[in-house]
Amino acid sequence: MTERKFTSFIHDIIDEDLKRGKNDGRVHTRFPPEPNGYLHIGHAKSICLNFGIAEEYGGLCNLRFDDTNPTKEDLEYVESIKEDVKWLGYDWDDRLYYASDYFEQLYQYAVELIKAGKAYVDDLSADEIREYRGTLTEPGKNSPYRERSVEENLELFEKMRAGKFPEGSCVLRAKIDMASPNLNMRDPVLYRIQHTSHHRTGDKWCIYPMYDYAHPLSDAMEGITHSICTVEFEDHRPLYDWVVENVKGLKSRPQQIEFARLNLSHTVMSKRKLRQLVEEGYVKGWDDPRMPTISGLRRRGYTPESIRDFCERIGVAKADSMVDIAMLEHCIREDLNYKAPRVMAVLRPLKVVIENYPEGEVEWLDAEYSQENPELGSRKIPFAREIYIEREDFMEDPPKKFFRLAPGREVRLKYAYIIKCERVIKDENTGEIIELRCTYDPATRSGSPTATRRVKGTLHWVTVEHGIEAEVRIYHNLFNKANPEEEKDVDFKQNINPNSLEVLRSVLEPTLAEAAVGSRYQFLRQGYFCVDADSTTQLPVFNRIVSLKDTWAKLQKKEANKNKNKTSSL
Ligand code: ATP
Ligand code: MG
Repeated sequence: MTERKFTSFIHDIIDEDLKRGKNDGRVHTRFPPEPNGYLHIGHAKSICLNFGIAEEYGGLCNLRFDDTNPTKEDLEYVESIKEDVKWLGYDWDDRLYYASDYFEQLYQYAVELIKAGKAYVDDLSADEIREYRGTLTEPGKNSPYRERSVEENLELFEKMRAGKFPEGSCVLRAKIDMASPNLNMRDPVLYRIQHTSHHRTGDKWCIYPMYDYAHPLSDAMEGITHSICTVEFEDHRPLYDWVVENVKGLKSRPQQIEFARLNLSHTVMSKRKLRQLVEEGYVKGWDDPRMPTISGLRRRGYTPESIRDFCERIGVAKADSMVDIAMLEHCIREDLNYKAPRVMAVLRPLKVVIENYPEGEVEWLDAEYSQENPELGSRKIPFAREIYIEREDFMEDPPKKFFRLAPGREVRLKYAYIIKCERVIKDENTGEIIELRCTYDPATRSGSPTATRRVKGTLHWVTVEHGIEAEVRIYHNLFNKANPEEEKDVDFKQNINPNSLEVLRSVLEPTLAEAAVGSRYQFLRQGYFCVDADSTTQLPVFNRIVSLKDTWAKLQKKEANKNKNKTSSL
């Protein structure tokens, strides 16, 4: 058993079960994705919870593909899901399962239910079934086919399997109670006909089990003890229980426990909607760094540690809530603050010529990778007469508190000298500032004994000669609204932020020429960045993971102060 990192009502339930010796003291969970899309950060919460609980209690967690709906599923999704779970740091060992592997057994269980008079073949159409089901205020009506004999049902069900009937002509239903206050218990459909090839079973089957039937049985066949799912299944729990109680010979009697799904601000989380974004070209793919998918976050530069940390921080509750995306960003900053080497990159370059610096001279300056983490070591960076600084670090007519460069003002260049702006050169036609002319003070070289003068601002910079050109991709929220699904009658895509991707031509310090795909850096004063898979030796491509501005930490501080003031005024 590993140390418990956090606790929750689910832990309380399991503790109680263990105390009472339920399930012979076993804890066995599962993560059951449907392979109909890529996993997203909401799934990460479920993965961390299921695998995490198994780890904490010295139990097991299975990976099971809930592949009971062949129309939307695909092998590509199966592979991506396996990759994502592994990347997050979890291991299912030899416990990789597919609901489709149970099709034969599930069929046999259905035959047993028919024999016990607990299931029947219904010829009503889908519309009629809906009509007969009744409403929340009105009980349903029995189907005219409900009292078919066991023999007739067995024969019809076999014919369904044998492909004798067209799609929609009949279904297998559980015989429970058409007057139940819970609509899920009004003779739910267990099997439907679908003449569709399955990505694993091919054309072997033309009837497929419904989720509410296959899921509890898959759990019970695998010996699952705690079947953790999201709250929208709360109303399905009586059916879950009905299924595992009415089928004989199962390995375990699992208990379904519901928790609130993760909603994240400024994004959508359903695979169906994410698929629309991909298929309709709003993003470049499932792994587009703006997507809340695990593959998108990975490509963006998120670490598995930061995502696991996030899942721990948000905790587990019963009630739905929306988590601010700033909290996820806070977690990656926390992780990279110490780990990521700090380098210099000028995102929007403005040329500076240092007029009193000798032409052709290059000085190699010592530059540590991180003041906070000396273990990261240091490198030498070149300084020369012509450099780039950030466009926004210069203002011709600055306000009082602008401590960067302006005509007649001085700043320090990080690791180098203090320079003073002497002249501004503009494009004759457009008036745009294209170059600054500066002088430097040779006595002010960083680290030298004569560098005693202090100035307020320190800028990052890169030399013109040695700097390498790169594409830098700055990502903004994919949606303008915190909750893009807020208005029921407005398509969520109306709230897409048309400016979620900004592409810059930037200049990087030469150290970054060899940066491997996936490696992460802090660009001084700019944020955390990660080398994108689109990188080539001709043109490196960097994704901005996050800026340095931590709105979440700021908010927390404000809250803490507010609370402090409250208590002190009591
Ligand atoms: P989606 O609507 O995004 O397709 P889903 O629930 O249909 O989600 P599944 O592949 O069936 O996706 O989900 C696998 C597991 O992940 C389930 O146990 C589900 O409850 C859980 N899960 C899905 N979305 C979230 C979420 N936003 N927060 C927490 N858990 C989630
Ligand atoms: Mg689903």
